[in-house]
Amino acid sequence: SSWWRNVEPAAKDPILGVTEAFLADPSPDKVNVGVGAYRDDNGKPVVLECVREAERRIAGTANMEYLPMGGSVKMVEETLKLAYGDNSEFIKDKRIAAVQSLSGTGACRLFADFQKRFHPDSQIYIPVPTWSNHHNIWRDAHVTQRTFHYYHPGTKGLDFAALMDDIKNAPNGSFFLLHACAHNPTGVDPSEEQWKEISYQIKAKGHFPFFDMAYQGFASGDPERDAKAIRIFLKDGHLLGLAQSYAKNMGLYGQRVGCLSVLCEDEKQAVAVKSQLQQLARPMYSNPPVHGALIVSTILGDAELKKLWLKEVQGMADRIIGMRTALRENLEKLGSPLSWKHITNQIGMFCYSGLTPEQVDRLTDEYHIYMTRNGRISMAGVTTGNVGYLANAIQEVTK
Ligand code: PMP
Repeated sequence: SSWWRNVEPAAKDPILGVTEAFLADPSPDKVNVGVGAYRDDNGKPVVLECVREAERRIAGTANMEYLPMGGSVKMVEETLKLAYGDNSEFIKDKRIAAVQSLSGTGACRLFADFQKRFHPDSQIYIPVPTWSNHHNIWRDAHVTQRTFHYYHPGTKGLDFAALMDDIKNAPNGSFFLLHACAHNPTGVDPSEEQWKEISYQIKAKGHFPFFDMAYQGFASGDPERDAKAIRIFLKDGHLLGLAQSYAKNMGLYGQRVGCLSVLCEDEKQAVAVKSQLQQLARPMYSNPPVHGALIVSTILGDAELKKLWLKEVQGMADRIIGMRTALRENLEKLGSPLSWKHITNQIGMFCYSGLTPEQVDRLTDEYHIYMTRNGRISMAGVTTGNVGYLANAIQEVTK
């Protein structure tokens, strides 16, 4: 009876807590710009047509056997092509150790455990700010965390000089966590030139780059273009780690399908690394789920479905880019004296608005608008129907 007497309720997740509060609000005006999931212009969740078609094609065809420990070979193969390129020499040379993961979160966690097992005294450098779960993931993997400068509150853009200094000042051979595109929560990505300099400096210091790519396709609308940071690092001869997720770009959130890959020196090393990743997965969840992987491999393995997917990703990205323009124009029309250029400069699902926690509280209390207290607006929750209301409320709490 006394086993769990010392258990206190856990702190609420800052992101998931927002949705709970939103659902509990009876106001007809309420707006949820906290959720990190895509919505259509009516605020409704979206299942992509390519996913529906893939489901029709696979319905009743697959057995329910376990996948191999490393997951679906076909899904992993297609997923690597998206990141490393269709004709990647690294794929050809079998230098990439890759396993299917429980979406992007699972890929990050598996890597953190792998890092801890083979570099037990290493640290991970994490950008400020970052997706809050990164901190939880490396904490639970018992890896010491350090931070590096990323966002500049004054410019609401990249703090490039401070970022470069932090890379230079970190002990040689440190691990660096980088968002490959559409940085969460800021929407601020380095330019191509800046990526080249970051790559150069990380190489010069012998650091290990680990990329979290949760939004490939969501930034520009084109998965190829969104892979440019990875391609720059590959060209520069880095060894790297990479987490990929189909939650956002295929809308497969609840299917938990993704991939962890580690680029190795040669095929022999890749075989060893893959076997160790599988060894880490075995006592955690044994092997990954079948259905989502089958949806992905069906889409990417079929030229027609892949084309449809690319069109649908572009459509999602375009709607978000359109809402950025609309939100900024509405604020400017209302005569806001503040600069809202960052709304359209930032990229991907989120806008780091610069709203203070107190202003966010007022938006919630007075206007039933829900978002995390760091001022992160999920542009996916903005629609033609609510953008005027949102702009007006922001104008009221910032004037
Ligand atoms: N990394 C980042 C930066 C994210 O924003 C997310 C999703 N919020 C993830 C990883 C992981 O998402 P999932 O586990 O659903 O793929």
